Amino acid sequence: MPDPSQLAAASVRTLAPYVPGKPIEELEREYGIRDIIKLASNENPLGPGAKARAAIAAASTEIGLYPDGGGFVLKQALARKLGCANDGITLGNGSNDVLVMLAETFLTQGVEAVYSQYAFAVYPIAVQATGATARVAPALPESHPMALGHDLDAMAALVNDRTRLVFVANPNNPTGTWVEAAPLKQFIAGLPANVIVVVDEAYIEYAQDECDQDGGFPDTSRWLQEFPNLVVVRTFSKAYGLAGLRVGYALSSPAIAGLLNRVRQAFNVNSIAMAAAVAALDDTEHLQKSAKLNRDGMHQLEAGLDQMKVRRYPSRGNFVLVDCARPVGPVYESMLRQGVIVRPVGNYQLPTHLRLTIGTHSQNERMLGALRQALGS
Ligand SMILES: *Cc1c(COP(=O)(O)O)cnc(C)c1O
Repeated sequence: MPDPSQLAAASVRTLAPYVPGKPIEELEREYGIRDIIKLASNENPLGPGAKARAAIAAASTEIGLYPDGGGFVLKQALARKLGCANDGITLGNGSNDVLVMLAETFLTQGVEAVYSQYAFAVYPIAVQATGATARVAPALPESHPMALGHDLDAMAALVNDRTRLVFVANPNNPTGTWVEAAPLKQFIAGLPANVIVVVDEAYIEYAQDECDQDGGFPDTSRWLQEFPNLVVVRTFSKAYGLAGLRVGYALSSPAIAGLLNRVRQAFNVNSIAMAAAVAALDDTEHLQKSAKLNRDGMHQLEAGLDQMKVRRYPSRGNFVLVDCARPVGPVYESMLRQGVIVRPVGNYQLPTHLRLTIGTHSQNERMLGALRQALGS
């Protein structure tokens, strides 16, 4: 057999795979240490709430049957919660699945997608796999108050006749940066009507909590009527604490949802995930508790990092990007040896940065202590 890479599509041959956070079990195996904490993948340190846990146990008795491929019950629960119609909802095996469906639906060789430098790593993978061309807008400079964030003007300047998709992560991962409602609305309104704009709101529950005071975080699901070319993408992986079950969704016009449904795998979301998501939506208490834990942890990290004089970037997510001002490999390694897994972001061309997920109070203390020791400061 010849080298199979010669047989692969050119668009796949040149792809760099997604780099996940290091699993706890892997660190246990490699270093032989115990009592490890993972603050590397922006998971909710509380996990799911009691209602979701009970729903998971109940649904596990039904797994001999295929799930509802139409996702009726979850769509109904989302529609009620968000005030939208069932036929504008597309469920995904994580929102990653939805992002890939969007790329498969609208992209092919010869057309283009626009996103920002340092935008979420799934966009380049989903775009390039289709053979389409990625147009990457330079991020806002270090001197800007929203350093490394999306420059909406620079993104708009890359839109042309070949553009099919524009991705905006709000807030963005790994930077934590965000765009405000007014400029975002102006940006969307300024796009040609035949360009689909995807606003990825994976952290919106945290962002809304953190900005209760100053006018509110943009909830673009309210703009769907106004902009038929808008797609809002959300997930149960972050604030809802269901990352391991893989469930996310897109909100769009029924016409776009109908197109996504053509490429969607028939049973892409499993029955336990859907049952857990329905229960999680109904558990506002757990969501509020998770948001408060995050808000307190954010303050704790900010204070600790400032004390260490480590540069940090503003964040509306459940994580903080920091610049260690040195190649970060040895810092990451030292933290691993101390049993703390964080996320180096060299894959984003940020070789001196780490992304720190906010954990519980004691996890945050341990992470800050491990970072302090690793930096020798
Ligand atoms: C974590 C994340 C997602 C989604 O993850 P899923 O687990 O696939 O739902 C999507 N977008 C951004 C920006 C994220 O950080």
